Amino acid sequence: MQFIRDVYASKAAMRRPVISFEFFPPKTDEGDRALMEKTIPALKELAPDYCSMTYGAGGGTRDKTLMMVDRIQREHKLTAMAHLTCVNSTAEESRAVLLQARALGIGNILALRGDPPGGGDFKPTAGGFEFSWQLVRFIKEMGGFCIGAAGFPEGHVACKEGREVDWDRLKAKIDAGADFILTQLFFNNADYFRFRDYLSRKGAAAPICPGIIAILSASQIKRFTALCGAALPAPLLASLEKYAGDDAACAEFGIEYATRQCEELLREGAPGLHFYTLNKTRSTSQVLRNLRLAPGD
Ligand SMILES: Cc1cc2nc3c(=O)[nH]c(=O)nc-3n(C[C@H](O)[C@H](O)[C@H](O)COP(=O)(O)OP(=O)(O)OC[C@H]3O[C@@H](n4cnc5c(N)ncnc54)[C@H](O)[C@@H]3O)c2cc1C
Repeated sequence: MQFIRDVYASKAAMRRPVISFEFFPPKTDEGDRALMEKTIPALKELAPDYCSMTYGAGGGTRDKTLMMVDRIQREHKLTAMAHLTCVNSTAEESRAVLLQARALGIGNILALRGDPPGGGDFKPTAGGFEFSWQLVRFIKEMGGFCIGAAGFPEGHVACKEGREVDWDRLKAKIDAGADFILTQLFFNNADYFRFRDYLSRKGAAAPICPGIIAILSASQIKRFTALCGAALPAPLLASLEKYAGDDAACAEFGIEYATRQCEELLREGAPGLHFYTLNKTRSTSQVLRNLRLAPGD
């Protein structure tokens, strides 16, 4: 088991980007088989530095996260990270999940607050955490884990005080023990650069890795961005209108857009690329091949 903070440090020393893939736990046995026997083996050809598995998000069940991370580590010999949220959980329940992770040899945790399952405002569970920095601190105090946290280049959707207030709170997560940051998806690189540079001026030294999605369909990305609060810039929205109803053409456009976005991010010093794969291979593979980041390129 490798700590992901060490992966960022060693790749930075080599001046190479850290490539990571995010998956969600499928809901069915058939979905499990497709992920474990087809999707991950296909993406493994691209030699990712690590993979991550969501927790209770995207319809995945919570109990499966550790099981899937364990399988990725054992069966595919890949460095992997379990996401963990504060939703419907007391601190003692979070401790139990972390102890189980430790027993399985899972040492990388993405510490999140999470969102209420039915939408609306987040309400902490009695005896649980209200904000992710408290979970970060709790994991840090347990010791023995590498901790990631989420960052929002456009500010978190629920933060009404403005982006910079949200970014200051992210700095508090880093101060509480987060070793690296993965960002929410975004489409305007200027938002990422402003965010990264602000945190750097505030003295945050943790790597801030951009989260990338290659758009698959116009209707799907409008739904995702409405949920997470990421903006679709006007020119991108205009292009998407052209592909409404033609997902194949939209996916090709999505690959092209993500390729251009990643090229600029890497040129301007992003420490890596974290791909929201949606448990699919084609677009992520093609973007990495376009970037000449696949083995053999
Ligand atoms: C890379 C990534 C992976 C994700 N994976 C998952 C997943 O697996 N499962 C899942 O359910 N969700 C996941 N999410 C979504 C995430 O849980 C939500 O975006 C959630 O709304 C915020 O989580 P957080 O950890 O950033 O929360 P927090 O850091 O707690 O922030 C939440 C809100 O509280 C505010 N806040 C923070 N500290 C304070 C304070 N001291 N006082 C007042 N307000 C404060 C922040 O400004 C923000 O508006 C992921 C997000 C990202 C970017």
